Amino acid sequence: MVKLDLEKINLPGLELERPWMIAGPCSAETEEQVFETAQQVKEAGFKIFRAGIWKPRTRPGAFEGVGTIGLPWLKRVKEELGLFVGTEVANAHHVFEAIKHGIDILWVGARTTANPFAVQEIADALKGTEIPVLVKNPVNPDLELWIGALERINQAGIKKLAAIHRGFSTYDKTKYRNHPQWQIPIELRRRIPDLPIICDPSHISGKRELIYEISQEAMDLNFDGLLVEAHRCPEKAWSDASQQVTPEELKAISEKIVLRAPKI
Ligand code: PEP
Ligand code: MN
Repeated sequence: MVKLDLEKINLPGLELERPWMIAGPCSAETEEQVFETAQQVKEAGFKIFRAGIWKPRTRPGAFEGVGTIGLPWLKRVKEELGLFVGTEVANAHHVFEAIKHGIDILWVGARTTANPFAVQEIADALKGTEIPVLVKNPVNPDLELWIGALERINQAGIKKLAAIHRGFSTYDKTKYRNHPQWQIPIELRRRIPDLPIICDPSHISGKRELIYEISQEAMDLNFDGLLVEAHRCPEKAWSDASQQVTPEELKAISEKIVLRAPKI
C-alpha cells in the first residue's frame, strides 16, 4: 500500500458524481473554436472543459499548441459559460501561467509523467497552491513511475489528486493507439484505494468508434470518471482528429453507458 495524503476533489459549487465527465478539444486552436466547442460542451450538460494549450507532439513539425495566448480563451469560457476549465502542464512556467489565468484543474501528460525531473519541477511550482491535479500514466507501462509522480506532487502539498489512465505505447500495432493494459490501473487502485481514477478513452483508442466500448469497460471496472476529447468539428481538428467526437455525440455516448455493479 502507498500512503498519500488525499482530499476529495471538489470544485466550488460542483459536487462531483460518478462518472465525472471532462470534455473538450485535444487542443485550443482559436478563440472561436474554443468558445464554440465550450458552448456545445455546456449544452451537452458537461461541466468541466478541457483544452490543451501546450501540446507535447511526438515528432517536430506538427501543431505544438497556441501557448500562453490561449489561456485568456479558457478564462473566458470559465467566466462567460460558468464551466470549470483544465489544461495540461509540463513545466514550472506552464504551472505559473495556468494558475495566473484562473485555470481550475491541471493535468500532467503521459510524456511528462515518464520524466521525474519534469514532475519534480512541476511539483515544486505547485507548492502553496491547492489546485486539483490529474496525473496521466507514463507512456510506458511502469506503475512505479506513475505512483512516483503522484507521490512527488502529493509531497508538494497537493491533496486533490486523481490518476488518468490513457493506455500505454506499444511498438506492435493493435486495435488501440495505446494499449489499455487494464491490469495496471487495477493494481494502482489496489495500491492506493482512495485515489480516484479517470479513464481517457480518446488516447487509448485513437479512433472515435471505440470511445463507447472503452468508456463502458472503465465504468465496469469502477473508474470514477472519463476525460474525452470533444471538438465542434472533429475531422478538422489540428491534433488528434480521428479520435475526437462532437460534444453532442459524447452526450449520446454518455447516455448509452450503463452504470452496473463493478466487475472488481
Ligand atoms: C492530451 O490529453 O491531449 C494528451 C496530449 O494526452 P497524453 O498525454 O495522454 O498523450
Ligand atoms: Mn489529444
